[in-house]
Amino acid sequence: MNRDTPSVQPDPVETAAWFVAGQPGSADRLLGAHTWRANGDCAGCGVHRPTRWPCALVSIARRAEHINRERSRRPVPDTHRVPGALVGTAGTA
Ligand SMILES: [Zn+2]
Repeated sequence: MNRDTPSVQPDPVETAAWFVAGQPGSADRLLGAHTWRANGDCAGCGVHRPTRWPCALVSIARRAEHINRERSRRPVPDTHRVPGALVGTAGTA
C-alpha cells in the first residue's frame, strides 16, 4: 500500500446508489414506494418512523437512475457482445 496516497472514505449514498443501479428495476421500485404524502412525509418509510420526503432512499434511487442513464450512453465494449448477435436492430420490426 502506498503511504503517500490518503485513503478515501466512500460516500454511503453513492455506494448504495451503485448497488441499486446494479439491480434491474430496483430504482423504479424504490421511487414507486417512496412517494410524497400530503403531510410532507414519505409514504414508503412507514408510520412508525415518519421521514420527510424526499427520504434517503429517494436520493439513492435518483442517483441510481442517473448512473444507469450514463451507463446506457456509453458503447458496450466488444468483449461484452454476444458473438453473432445483431447490433443496432433493437426496436425494429
Ligand atoms: Zn422513504
